[in-house]
Amino acid sequence: MTRLLEAKGVAAEIRSEVARGAAEVAAVAGRPPGLAAVLVGDDPASRVYVGSKTRACVEAGLAGLSHLLPAATTADELRALIEQLNADPKIDGILVQLPLPAHLPTRELLERMSPEKDVDGFHPVNVGRLWNDEAGFVPCTPAGIVESLRRHGISLAGMNAVVVGRSTIVGKPMAGLLLRENCTVTIAHSKTRDLAAICRQADLLIAAVGRPGMIGAEHVKEGAVVVDVGINRVENRKLAERLVGGDAKRMGAFAEKGYVLVGDVDFPAVAPKSSAITPVPGGVGPLTVAMLLANTLTSARRRFGLEPARK
Ligand code: NDP
Repeated sequence: MTRLLEAKGVAAEIRSEVARGAAEVAAVAGRPPGLAAVLVGDDPASRVYVGSKTRACVEAGLAGLSHLLPAATTADELRALIEQLNADPKIDGILVQLPLPAHLPTRELLERMSPEKDVDGFHPVNVGRLWNDEAGFVPCTPAGIVESLRRHGISLAGMNAVVVGRSTIVGKPMAGLLLRENCTVTIAHSKTRDLAAICRQADLLIAAVGRPGMIGAEHVKEGAVVVDVGINRVENRKLAERLVGGDAKRMGAFAEKGYVLVGDVDFPAVAPKSSAITPVPGGVGPLTVAMLLANTLTSARRRFGLEPARK
C-alpha cells in the first residue's frame, strides 16, 4: 500500500511550534521574532509569495514586514536597505524575493546580507556551514523535506538517496542535508548518463528538475520513497489528463484556468511502485513557508541565547 506524504499536517505542526517559540522569545526579549521581506518590482507571482509569507508570519505571532520597492530601484538603494535591515535590532530574518530585476546584481546583494539573518540559507557562509556540519541556515524547501520525512516516521540513515537536480536552492542543499542525515547520496543532473539506471538504485528519490512528469516508472525501484519538488504548469490537455490520472476535479480546474500544476514525477505511473510518495500540489510547497518561519524563530532564539548549541 502506497503512503501519500502530505505536507499540510506537518506544516501546521511546525507553525504551531513556531507560534509557541515566538511567544517564548517575546516574553524574554520584549518583542516577537521579526522577518523583513524585500520585493523589487511588481511580478504578480512574487507578490503572492511575499504576501503569503508575511501573512504566515503574523498568524504565527511573528512580526512580518514587507518592503515593496519599485522595479526601477537601484543597486545602491537596495544595498542601503539591506544594511539598514542588517543593523535593525528588531529584525531576525531578511528575505529578498527572487528573481530580482535583471539590472540588479543578485549574488552581490545576497552576500551583503548578514549570514546571521539569512533565513533563506543562500549566503555562501551558510552554504559552507551546511557542508561543514556547523549551525547555520539551510534553504527552506530541502529543510522542510527532511523535516517532513522525519515526522512521517521515515528513517533516513543508511538509505541510498538520489537527488535529481543540482540547483543552489534545492538540489545541492538537499544532497548536503541528506548526507548529514547519513544517507549515501548521488546527485544527478542534465548531463547524467543513464539517469533511469541511477535513479533505480534509490531507496529515496528526490526530483527537483522542473520538467513535468519526467520521472517515470522506469526510474523507480519497487518500494522506494519518492519526493517530488517540481511545480510545473501544464497547458497541454492530453499531457495534463495523463499526469493527473484523469482526475475529474483537477481537469475541471484545467477547463477553468487553462492549466494544471503537476510535479516532475509521473504520479499515476510511479505511485503504485513506491512505498511512499509526495503529491503535487500539497507534498512539499507548504513546508517551505513553515521552515522560513522556523528559521526566523531560530535566528531570534540564537540572538537571545535561547537556542542550545548544536549542529
Ligand atoms: P533549476 O532550473 O534551477 O534546476 C533544475 C535542475 O534540474 C538542474 O540542476 C538541471 O541540470 C536538472 N535537469 C534539467 N533537465 C534535466 C534532465 N533531463 N535530467 C536530469 N536533470 C535535469 O530548478 P530549481 O531547483 O530551482 O527547481 C526545480 C523544480 O522545483 C521546479 O519545478 C521548481 O518550480 C520547483 N520548486 C519547488 C519549490 C517548492 O516549494 N515546492 C521550491 C523551489 C523549487 P543542470 O544543472 O545540468 O542544468
